[in-house]
Amino acid sequence: MEIDIDIFENTEAAFAAKNNTALKEAQVLFKLMGNNSLVSLGAKAANFALKLHLPVTPLFRITVYEQFCGGETFDECKKTIKNLSSYGVSAMLNYGVELKECENDFDIAVEENLKAIDFAGKNKSANAVCIKPTGLGRLALFEKAQSGNKLTKAESEELQRVKDRFHRLGKAAVVSNIHLYIDAEETWFQNTIDEIVEEMMALYNTKKPIIYNTVQLYRNDRLAYLKKEIERAKTQNYFYGIKLVRGAYMEKENERAEQNGYASPIHKNKKGSDKDYDAAVEFCIENIENTACCIATQNEQSCYLAAKSLAQKKIPFNHSHICFSQLYGMGDNITFNLAKLGFNAYKYLPYGPVKDVIPYLIRRAQENTSVNGQMSRELKLIQQEIERRKKRG
Ligand SMILES: Cc1cc2nc3c(=O)[nH]c(=O)nc-3n(C[C@H](O)[C@H](O)[C@H](O)COP(=O)(O)OP(=O)(O)OC[C@H]3O[C@@H](n4cnc5c(N)ncnc54)[C@H](O)[C@@H]3O)c2cc1C
Repeated sequence: MEIDIDIFENTEAAFAAKNNTALKEAQVLFKLMGNNSLVSLGAKAANFALKLHLPVTPLFRITVYEQFCGGETFDECKKTIKNLSSYGVSAMLNYGVELKECENDFDIAVEENLKAIDFAGKNKSANAVCIKPTGLGRLALFEKAQSGNKLTKAESEELQRVKDRFHRLGKAAVVSNIHLYIDAEETWFQNTIDEIVEEMMALYNTKKPIIYNTVQLYRNDRLAYLKKEIERAKTQNYFYGIKLVRGAYMEKENERAEQNGYASPIHKNKKGSDKDYDAAVEFCIENIENTACCIATQNEQSCYLAAKSLAQKKIPFNHSHICFSQLYGMGDNITFNLAKLGFNAYKYLPYGPVKDVIPYLIRRAQENTSVNGQMSRELKLIQQEIERRKKRG
């Protein structure tokens, strides 16, 4: 089957899951988010209000939360998951609570993720869970472990507890037969995460890919790392699971490199990231026998190239070793059109108490502000669909 270049222009398929009211609400929200000063002021006010424990959650609940999150509980998520699955789209669950720094909170995060894994095991259309490593251990500990400085006895024990948390989740993922994705974070502690996840893959991916690491292709060393790890998995006889992203911490990485006088690990320009991203996708497809890959991007060109490559190589679109994923509330034209063609298409679906996911929501709003006064791609597509429905009558 040929993949058309305009595969993502079909707004009817993209927004089929949204009735007219939901579409209008999305239009209002994306218009508001397009206003840079409003978002910048709103983000500051929200952070301030959160610090003072002011009741801002109802405002978030009826605006950005509905657009970008599945619900506060699994029960609330069920409706969203059912709606997605009726269009052939699956959910990747993410307990959206961020950056806690004490052991008790890490243990709570494990319990929440165990519940998510169990839920995913029982719901075919939500058979994937994403976890953020910094939800399971102290960032400073990850960083010290990577730095080469010797850990104290207490720190070594603490690191062992962190590893135990990861392994509890890994074992549960095997029992529930789901995909467990581990997010990638900043370079100064990512090596510690990589080592833990590599060990998990060797243990739990012997029969099929269950554990997935993440590589950020905005890093100039990751394509080589990916190739090396795929070869290692082949020699050691386990399946390699990987989520491919461009990367979310570019400014932070560049700033830190400049402040500390080392060369930035990030590509010099966007073209560099794009080139490595598409090369990574192609390398995974070429090694599809032992490599399972999640193409996690809202970039239409990358998704088009991946779909085209699968079609040209006559690889079944629903091959269990390849899937696509976009954030819930964004990139619907990609997800729903891919699902319509029979590809494994996912939505990354955060859930959790509104007040705890506010940092995630602020980032989504910031991502959708206007660039040089231009209307966002999301808003353009929504308006196009509203017009199309009006004409159809
Ligand atoms: C399902 C899913 C899971 C994700 N998981 C993670 C994760 O675990 N870790 C993580 O870090 N991010 C994660 N992300 C976010 C991701 O890394 C990107 O920030 C985001 O998706 C935007 O990139 P894009 O590929 O969708 O699209 P694009 O809009 O095509 O790319 C934007 C990205 O390009 C890169 N870029 C932009 N300008 C430059 C420049 N001047 N030089 C070099 N590079 C540049 C940056 O990475 C930027 O985010 C995830 C995203 C999705 C959809």
